[in-house]
Amino acid sequence: MDLRIKRKLTKEITIGQKKLGAGNPILVQSMTKTRFENLDLLKNEIMDLINAGCEIIRIAITDKNSISYISSLIKEGFFKEVPLVADVQFDSELAILALEAGADCVRINPGNIGGLKKTSEIIKKAKEKKACIRIGVNSGSIDKKILKKTQNDIRLAMVESTLEYVRFFERMQFYNFKISAKASSVMDSIYVYKTLSEKLDYPLHLGITEAGSRFEGAIKSTAGLAVLLYEGIGDTIRVSLTDDSIYEVKAGYYILNSLSIRNYGVNIISCPTCGRTKADLKAIASEIEKLTYSIKKSLKIAVMGCIVNGPGEAKEADIGIALGNKKAAIFIKGKILKRVEIKDLLYEFKNELEKLIN
Ligand code: SF4
Repeated sequence: MDLRIKRKLTKEITIGQKKLGAGNPILVQSMTKTRFENLDLLKNEIMDLINAGCEIIRIAITDKNSISYISSLIKEGFFKEVPLVADVQFDSELAILALEAGADCVRINPGNIGGLKKTSEIIKKAKEKKACIRIGVNSGSIDKKILKKTQNDIRLAMVESTLEYVRFFERMQFYNFKISAKASSVMDSIYVYKTLSEKLDYPLHLGITEAGSRFEGAIKSTAGLAVLLYEGIGDTIRVSLTDDSIYEVKAGYYILNSLSIRNYGVNIISCPTCGRTKADLKAIASEIEKLTYSIKKSLKIAVMGCIVNGPGEAKEADIGIALGNKKAAIFIKGKILKRVEIKDLLYEFKNELEKLIN
C-alpha cells in the first residue's frame, strides 16, 4: 500500500525570501506573544523562534507605535532570513503602514478591515511593495451579511466569505496571496479547508484557532491538520497554543515529521516508563528536550527507562540512553558506547551528541 502523500499543487507565491505553494516545503510558522513595550524580551522571542526553526514569523500590529517597532526590528536585520507577517485587525491604515515599513506580508480579514474599498488600498500597496497578503477568514469574525445569507451555517459562511474575497483579489489582478480559514472546531476547519482546496489553487495556511494549552492545543491541532495534510492539503501551518511560541514550532515539526512530510530536527523517542525504571526518566527526557530543541539536523534520539528494551529500541536511533540500576548506557545506532553514572549522564550525553553533530 502506497501511503505517500500526494500534495495538491497550488500556485507559487513569494513571501520575503521564501516561496510558498507549488510543492515547496510546507513551512512552519508562529506568532510572537511578547508586547512591543518589552522590546528586549520580544527580540529574544524572535531569536528563539528562528533557532527553533520557525520559517515565518507573525507579529500583531495594534497601533502606530507598533509600526515604528517593526520598522526598527526590520532595520536591525531580524527578518533577513525569516519573513515577517504583520497581523492587522480593523485598521486598514496600519496594514498600509506595515507594508511601507517593510513587512513581507500583511494578514488581514477583509471582513473586518473596513470593506472592499479599504482592502483594495492594501492590495495596491502590497503590489507596489511586492509583498504578500494573507486573507485570514476566521470563524469568529464572519461578515454578518454572509452569515444571514447562509442562515448562520458557519462552514458555508466561511467558504462563501473566502471565495468572495478571492474573487475580489483576482479582479484587482493581485495573486500573491495565501488563505487561512480557521475555526476553533476541528471538524469545521476540515470541512472549510477541504472545500476551499477543491475550489481554489491558492496556497493554504492551515491551523485550528484558539486550540488551547500545550497539551489540548497540540492534540486538537494534530487531529485537524493531520487529516488535511494526509489529503495533500496545506502549504504552511501554525499550531496555535496558549503557551510559549517555540512549542508551536516544535509541535508543527512533530506533525510534519510524523507524516513524513518534512524531516526536520530532533525526533525524541522516549518510553512511557514502567516498574523497571529506576531513575527519573521524565526529568532526564525533559532536559534532553531542552538540550536539543535548536538542532536543525534530522536526528533520532532514544530516551529509554531500562536496559531491557532500551538497546533494542535504540537500534533505530542515531543516539540513545537507557537507564540501568545506578548507571546508564549511551548508545550510538544500538551499540553501547559507554556506561556512565546517572549523575553524569546529561553531561556525557551532551558531549557525545556534539561529536555526532559535528
Ligand atoms: S523501555 Fe523499559 S522502562 Fe521503558 S516502558 Fe519499556 S520496559 Fe518499561
